[in-house]
Amino acid sequence: TGGHDELDYLIKQTIRASKTVEREIQRLNRIENYRKEFIGDISHELKTPIFAIQGFIETLLNGAIDDEEVNRRFLKKAMRNVNRLILLTKDLMEISKLETGELKSEVQSIYLHNVISDVVDNLQYKAQKENVTLEMGAFNENTLVRADRNQIKQVLINLVENAIKYNVAGGSVTVSAQPFSNDPGKMLVSVKDTGIGIDQQYIERVTERFFRIDKSRSREKGGTGLGLAIVKHIMEAHGEEFFIDSAPNEGSTFSFTLTKAEVEQTRPPVDSVG
Ligand code: ADP
Repeated sequence: TGGHDELDYLIKQTIRASKTVEREIQRLNRIENYRKEFIGDISHELKTPIFAIQGFIETLLNGAIDDEEVNRRFLKKAMRNVNRLILLTKDLMEISKLETGELKSEVQSIYLHNVISDVVDNLQYKAQKENVTLEMGAFNENTLVRADRNQIKQVLINLVENAIKYNVAGGSVTVSAQPFSNDPGKMLVSVKDTGIGIDQQYIERVTERFFRIDKSRSREKGGTGLGLAIVKHIMEAHGEEFFIDSAPNEGSTFSFTLTKAEVEQTRPPVDSVG
């Protein structure tokens, strides 16, 4: 009967609506938990450098300030920690903008070769300081890809800096690009190092924010634990893939895809042949 059908329909609608509400509550709970965890992580990360600065200043005020050599040494240590805080603040702002979706990728056609060679040139001095060779593999200089230039630069900087930081003296870093074997419309950009490598069990985790395998090595090299989390976010925002391939004591390769852009027509297309 018609009345029965109507009731049935209403009940089904109500159940559907309550399921939607339940899902929404779950989603909000997840965000809330994530936010709490994030604030907890940040507080924890801020504590170390702030307490260190406090300690150095206290020691100076307690009399060490009168010894010129100690004075200088402690001020330098305090400065190093201030620099850490600045780096951390920058990375935190970047990641929070990426996570809230405030930072949109401005995709345009860019010359891949230019972006890579800029980054390689800019980080050459860092590599030399660590006794690491940094070079660029050869590929077509005219390759155009669709990407946000600044964000892809940031990705490359983070990956190359890591490849230098987690390397060995006399090691090398190679940045290269080649057509992606799984998709002819894409390029695969890779940063390959001959460094300490990553144990299989940690590969999944290194892109989590604040996750580091060796906290003291990361700290000593000026790491914030946010570099790879930023990389992952940027690649996701681009809708591109990101891969990590690594073996302990052999080295790591971090790679990502970029979509090729149509090459600009320099002459009108030929519309009839023969
Ligand atoms: P960090 O500031 O500590 O370098 P990242 O998010 O960039 O933070 O990297 C997270 C962790 O992943 C690092 O602390 C390190 O343990 C590991 N890692 C990243 N890149 C490499 C690499 N090229 N070789 C070996 N380990 C790496």
